[in-house]
Amino acid sequence: MRKNQAIRSGEAVVGFVPTMGYLHQGHASLMQAARQQSDIVVLSIFVNPIQFGPNEDFDSYPRDEERDVETARTEGVDIVFIPSVQEMYPQPTQTTIAVSGITERLCGASRPGHFNGVTTVVSKLFNIVQPQKAFFGMKDAQQVAVIQQMVHDLNMPIDIVPCPIVREEDGLALSSRNVYLSTELREEALVLSQALRAAQEAVDSGTAVTADDIRRLLREHIGTAAHAVIDYAEIQAFPSLEPLAGDEPLQAYEDLLIALAVKFGKTRLIDNIRIQKMEVPSLV
Ligand code: AMP
Repeated sequence: MRKNQAIRSGEAVVGFVPTMGYLHQGHASLMQAARQQSDIVVLSIFVNPIQFGPNEDFDSYPRDEERDVETARTEGVDIVFIPSVQEMYPQPTQTTIAVSGITERLCGASRPGHFNGVTTVVSKLFNIVQPQKAFFGMKDAQQVAVIQQMVHDLNMPIDIVPCPIVREEDGLALSSRNVYLSTELREEALVLSQALRAAQEAVDSGTAVTADDIRRLLREHIGTAAHAVIDYAEIQAFPSLEPLAGDEPLQAYEDLLIALAVKFGKTRLIDNIRIQKMEVPSLV
């Protein structure tokens, strides 16, 4: 009822959830947040070729359009937008959106060009869908920071809504790429969430005091998995993603992100945890 009125009065809030499909409960949580906070929910499914490197998994990226459309229907999505590569990139294309600085670290350092692909496609999707709100998962925390920076720098009138990471019961963060994992590697991949939890506990208990304490702890934990190859295991300020010097006290920061990217066989997984200083209520 509210939706019809909102549409009739021209005041409908459009909430947008951009994805690459092969939807899981992480994506569903974004659709649910969008449903709650907007009148019309638009979901896009587009495996964006320009955000994949030449040796990455663009061709093998899992796809299941029929099941995705069904999931979208179940989650109350109003419009599913599934453009073709040809539609999104009619040739020749000569414009790229590039955010500098925060894109040069973490995933940006190990995946050159990745974030230019992300910011370019997200800008195009924003222009096509014209949402007032867009929902992104903190699973890709750097992506959230980059998109927020882009929206700010380019005066895009869009509210970026970050949503919490959804995990399996055993802690593994949901990802479309988890289907690549063998049973053995899936078991090993649990070290990611375990290492993050251990880091959180070490901060809470005061056992970890500096950035290097955290880096050491992460590497020790991840090192117990036989096939894990660390791309990065880092701690930085959020959302600036400024790296912390080794002896820098964690206490000096209000908002920190501990972020991991680790390869298990051919599958590269990312995960992270945010450590924010709580406001301690004054006793006076
Ligand atoms: P993708 O399809 O992997 O490009 O992801 C589309 C959106 O879903 C991005 O904003 C992701 O951060 C978000 N997302 C993916 N996995 C999760 C998860 N486990 N929890 C919350 N959001 C997620």
